[in-house]
Amino acid sequence: MQFANLRRGDALVPATIIDGKVYELRLGLDSVSADEALFGGGPAILFDLAIASGLPEMAEQLRDARGALREHGLDELGPPVVRPSKIIGVGRNYAAHARELGNEIPTQPILFAKFASAIVGPRDDIVRPAGVTDLDYEGELCVILGRAGRHIPRDGALDYVAGYCCANDVSARTAQLHSGDQWLRGKSFDTFCPLGPALVTRDEVADPQALRIRTWVDGELRQEDSTANMIFDVATLISYASNAFTLEPGDVILTGTPPGVAMGRTPPPWLEPGQLCEIEIDGLGRIANRVVAEPGGVV
Ligand code: ZN
Repeated sequence: MQFANLRRGDALVPATIIDGKVYELRLGLDSVSADEALFGGGPAILFDLAIASGLPEMAEQLRDARGALREHGLDELGPPVVRPSKIIGVGRNYAAHARELGNEIPTQPILFAKFASAIVGPRDDIVRPAGVTDLDYEGELCVILGRAGRHIPRDGALDYVAGYCCANDVSARTAQLHSGDQWLRGKSFDTFCPLGPALVTRDEVADPQALRIRTWVDGELRQEDSTANMIFDVATLISYASNAFTLEPGDVILTGTPPGVAMGRTPPPWLEPGQLCEIEIDGLGRIANRVVAEPGGVV
């Protein structure tokens, strides 16, 4: 089952994706604000409501009846998660990526934060901030939590997952690295967290550690790896993070990027305005975000 957020003006309505087409899900709700959207992280978590409303059954019916329904394009989607209480990034979680940047292989997960204001949808533009010349992509498996928990044991940690999607952990390298180990600023510019195209429920992902992940820039393959090569797997990351803070429904974990980022290449092929950055993960679909230049401004 795929859950998505369809844009209708400034609001979002729940939707699903079947065979690459988007269909609105009618839950008896005309529309919701961004904060209340599916997995918006607001007080009303519509996911629970959706399940209680028989949304999976509704989706099955949609599959049969969709010929009579209006189809929407993927470019009409907002992000599947809008205002998570946390975006947890994981640094250097693929050994080959750590090596390409000349870093040690970590012995414990390296967690960092991104702000939710960076989130955009699966076809939205990535805005290169004025003054930034070293814009980079990081294709990543994104985990979306479905249950709250603290001190979650590694065994059973995947039961806390609502689903998965593709993410681009966009990074402005100078802004990321010139403030030492605090990566927040260079990782959190507006539009630096494209997510989507939908939340694919965990029952459709047999093994999150056996997914091929690929990144292209203008059609050129830049990253290709398997999530099998994560140093710390999804269950370990959930358990480790939850030992420090309560994970809540809608929270997002970006599980780290495989090798092939621009910073690891000579010379670095930084993202440039006009380029299209695409990330695809087995079973989760593809996000495709155009880079545009921000006029004026100061970094
Ligand atoms: Zn990353």
